[in-house]
Amino acid sequence: MENDHEPAPVPFRLWRALLAEAGPAWLADLDGRVLFRTRAFTTIFGNGAELPPRLLAALRQIRDLGHAVQAPLETDRKRWQAVYFPIFDAEGTTVAVGGILRPAGSPHASDEMRQAAAEARLLELEEQIAEAERRKAALLQTMSHELLTPLNAVVGFSEAALQEVRGPLPAAYREYLEHIRNAGRHAGDIVQTLLDAARLDETQVATARRPISARRLVAEARAMVALRAVEEGVDVSRVTLERDDLVETDPLRARQILVNLLVNAIKFTPRGGAVGIDAQRSEPDCLDLVVWDTGIGISLAEQERIFEPFYQAGGALRAGSGGAGLGLAISRQLARLLGGDIFLSSEPGKGSRFTVRLPRLTSPA
Ligand code: ADP
Repeated sequence: MENDHEPAPVPFRLWRALLAEAGPAWLADLDGRVLFRTRAFTTIFGNGAELPPRLLAALRQIRDLGHAVQAPLETDRKRWQAVYFPIFDAEGTTVAVGGILRPAGSPHASDEMRQAAAEARLLELEEQIAEAERRKAALLQTMSHELLTPLNAVVGFSEAALQEVRGPLPAAYREYLEHIRNAGRHAGDIVQTLLDAARLDETQVATARRPISARRLVAEARAMVALRAVEEGVDVSRVTLERDDLVETDPLRARQILVNLLVNAIKFTPRGGAVGIDAQRSEPDCLDLVVWDTGIGISLAEQERIFEPFYQAGGALRAGSGGAGLGLAISRQLARLLGGDIFLSSEPGKGSRFTVRLPRLTSPA
């Protein structure tokens, strides 16, 4: 029989469970062709390319039902309890069926079978959750793309009008257009962040590492937040490195991390406070860039949680902070992708220190 089904994508945990199975166990595609069998299975049922007729009947039943089933089964020498279970593809369509046989009549057989059925169900649920996650990321990505296009038009045309490219702009409208442009930029930033998060979920972010001066990275990041610091009355004069080191990193991504941390530091530091960056070499062959602030700080309980996507400390209290609660989650993932990490120490009321660890270029340059 010609088989036009793709081979079943078998979840890794299920493979491990099956490989560890001492008794008879098998997996087959929907035409009944055996994809996998244990030695005990071969001893009883032989090693034909197709399942024996009795198991084929069970396979068809599971294929139509779409869920795991238990049933007694007798072979020449023995009575068994069998669990048959479906394997789904990404669309939730059954693409293969498996079975595990356990000796019947042993006092614990039914317990074991119940457990095996529960395990099969668990594996199924795990796959469904993973699939839902994949779909969520894909949706986020498509939506973000769709939203960025009109937002680019909003920002681009309001900028063009502000620059009076088609003639003078009535003064009364200048303020309106500035609002439109700023709101468009803000929405664009948030959408871009969501897009980054979706890409990180899929680990689609490409990084290109090369040696770069840490001092230069810090200077560039400072330039990007300087205006905001002035507006918010926070001193960023200590965002600078005295001693230079070469780091081996993706400059774009490393700068993105530093800018995220600096923007947070400025955002959560009251007027009159200060933000700075210190550097220290750390083991093995790394450079730690410590973004510190004299701001409101973060309680111990919240220090790990703020790295979770969408988490914002203080809940609704800070709802007006303007972010999506993704900046740190993205920054930490990026740092890890670059072979480093981010650590935090903080004391409420005194300030925070976010340490970005990046691989250092150690050969003399
Ligand atoms: P966002 O800034 O968009 O809310 P982040 O992931 O960047 O998202 O930060 C998550 C939360 O961590 C913030 O909402 C804030 O409560 C807390 N946080 C981050 N940086 C600081 C900081 N330097 N000082 C105090 N709290 C901070």
